Formats: sequence, C-alpha cells, structure tokens
Amino acid sequence: MLLSGGIDSATCLFLMKATNSVRALTFEYHGIAQKELQSAREIGAAAVVAEHRFVRLPDLKEASDIPVVKFGGLPPTYIPLRNSIFYSLAASYAEEAGAGLIVGGHNRDDSKVFRDVSPEFFAALQRAFWAGSAVLRRKKTRIVRPLRNRSKVQVVRLAASLKVPLELTWSCHRDGREHCWRCDGCLSRQASFTKAGVRDPLAPPGGGKIT
Ligand SMILES: [Zn+2]
Repeated sequence: MLLSGGIDSATCLFLMKATNSVRALTFEYHGIAQKELQSAREIGAAAVVAEHRFVRLPDLKEASDIPVVKFGGLPPTYIPLRNSIFYSLAASYAEEAGAGLIVGGHNRDDSKVFRDVSPEFFAALQRAFWAGSAVLRRKKTRIVRPLRNRSKVQVVRLAASLKVPLELTWSCHRDGREHCWRCDGCLSRQASFTKAGVRDPLAPPGGGKIT
C-alpha cells in the first residue's frame, strides 16, 4: 500500500484494511511538505498498519523544482516517471514481505493527467515485476487500484462512508501548520468536498474562502 497524507491514499487504506493485513510505504521525495509526512504517519497509525516504512528519495524532484526542463501541460507537482520508481520500490517491499497485492490510491481524475497512471503503464509494470521476480510471479502478486474508476468527489463520499479520519489528511502543496486554501491542492479539496456534500473537518469558518 502506497500511503501519502492525501485523501485518496487514506481512503484506499481504510478500504483495504477491512480484509487485509496492510503495510504502508511512504516516499519522502525532495521538498515534500513535512505536514504531509506527518499526516501519512498519523493515518497509518489510525489504520493500525502492520508496518509503515518511509523511504527517503531526496534527489527526486517535482517539476516546479526542476526549472531548466519544460514538462509541457503537466502540473508543477509532476515528478518525472514517479510511479515507475514508487511501484518498483513497492514491488521490492512486497517480495520481501510476501505480499499478494500492491495497492495504489489513484483516482479516475489522476489517469486523465498522468501517463504513468494509465492502464497500459500498470499492465506493463505488472508484466515486468513477474518477469523479474520468481517470488512475485509464484505468489501472483498483483498491482491493484481500487479507486481507479472513481472521481475525486466519489472518493470523498466513500471516505466519509468508511469513516476515514479526514481531519488527519493533508491536501495542501505548501508546508505550514494549516492548509493555505489558495493552492491547487487546497482548491481541489474544497471543490470536491462541496460537490460531494461532505463537511471538511479542516475547512476554516466560511468554507475556506480566504481573500
Ligand atoms: Zn494549499
């Protein structure tokens, strides 16, 4: 299970924990908000994961931190081929732990933006892992994305129904004690909760509209 501090992975974790012994894997890439790491830690503890491993990747940067290269049309949070790296580390962990599933919390909206969230990408990755690991092939360890057909709004509704501790999640792209309610992550969170008809326990008075 790949866990960040976001709503998608928290929802995914609470969905899987009902029937599985879950281990969580969080990546500390360059510039990740410390508050997001703290959220991931607290969400993992709330879900009582069997183990929560943190992997430091200080040289892995988001597009906004690589100003000399143009990543046409992709958001500033894009990390070049992020999921080839994250899932390879998850597959290594799965082999070590004898896991039958590698679980990612991508939603339907993600696959519209990033090629490394596409069905073609994951099918190729699955083949590569089975070709490269006798253990994963023998155990038929699969990559699954239980939220892949749900929009962000549907994920928020599912999170509420699963009683995910939404107050522990972190959506802001900036670091700080509170959400800034100005960045893309905050605006997307606010819009998703509003459309889902779910109260955001983190929204400040006035629904987060700060001018
Ligand atoms: Zn923000």
